[in-house]
Amino acid sequence: MTPDTIGIDDLPIRDELRGKSPYGAPQLDVPVRLNTNENPYPLPEPLVERIAERVREAARTLNRYPDRDAVELRSELAAYLTRTTGYEVGRANVWAANGSNEVIQQLLQTFAGPGRLAIGFEPSYSMHGLISRGTGTGWISGPRNDDFTIDVASAAHAIERHCPDVVFITSPNNPTGTAVEAETVVTLYEAAQAARPSLVVVDEAYVEFSHRPSLLPLIEGRPNLVVSRTMSKAFGAAGLRLGYLAAHRAVVDAVQLVRLPYHLSAITQATALAALEHTDTLLGYVEQLKAERDRLVAELRATGYEVTESDANFVQFGRFEDAHAVWQRILDRGVLVRDNGVPGWLRVTAGTPEENDAFLDAVRALKKEQSS
Ligand SMILES: *Cc1c(COP(=O)(O)O)cnc(C)c1O
Repeated sequence: MTPDTIGIDDLPIRDELRGKSPYGAPQLDVPVRLNTNENPYPLPEPLVERIAERVREAARTLNRYPDRDAVELRSELAAYLTRTTGYEVGRANVWAANGSNEVIQQLLQTFAGPGRLAIGFEPSYSMHGLISRGTGTGWISGPRNDDFTIDVASAAHAIERHCPDVVFITSPNNPTGTAVEAETVVTLYEAAQAARPSLVVVDEAYVEFSHRPSLLPLIEGRPNLVVSRTMSKAFGAAGLRLGYLAAHRAVVDAVQLVRLPYHLSAITQATALAALEHTDTLLGYVEQLKAERDRLVAELRATGYEVTESDANFVQFGRFEDAHAVWQRILDRGVLVRDNGVPGWLRVTAGTPEENDAFLDAVRALKKEQSS
């Protein structure tokens, strides 16, 4: 064994990690990249200036550890949630971490782990299953209807049958764009409480783009319900790595048992606080993206494609006998979309109007080729 030929499997890694691949969308260098659900708009210049100011201020005390409890940031996130949902939450109900992926990891470390189970209704966000595996949690793939809505009866049945410790409900769902009805969440919550009781995590990464209100008010009287959020999509700050949750204060106390001390750097806290000062401008971009999303849906349908109803900043379209071949042909025209492995379907993120035009030109051209 020469040093160059040593691979992962030559190392004493955990058995369940052998032969697995890390998460990652192919990042190809093409003119139009509509594959990772990012916000296409860079942060506005006044916000960039404000971030620089707040980071400069934070830099003066970088010899000290950051606020371990991110008190100011959690207060501002709580104020944002209260203002945008009309449901009052306070700092004690909110917890923040490095992306909602870390929030989910902390929840799984607290409520799941070896010997415990988590369930999601697939196709859905693959990281729920991957973080489960990373924390030693068993993963169960629950069912969805053909139109990608959650079938309440079969989902509740899966919960009763497997008695999972954590239930993931993604609304709007990725990669399909499908929103979940409040009654569905309530029914599945009740099934999960009767079965175990278990923690129900509603992943609302895309909720700002939805036609419907947030499911956040459902945490009232439901101590085992958590809503997770992120600044990666609506706030256009995927590079910041800031996710958060809202729940009963006991859930916030519980995740402190596993969080690393000082997990959220002073730079991250300062940057997120600056972004929250510019919420109104950023939510203005969200309105533009919602209009572009609706335009993509209408144009794709007019061109003869099937489109799944979308409440997110992306659209699932099809149906294709060989989705990957179509993905490649769109890429050949300089547009990168996402093949999430859902048979027959591809996903396109709403970009700027120009990017969306480039995408629409590409898929219209494909239709023409087909029919000629
Ligand atoms: C993009 C996405 C997230 C965001 O993860 P971050 O770690 O906050 O960037 C969370 N959940 C879903 C369903 C997503 O698609």
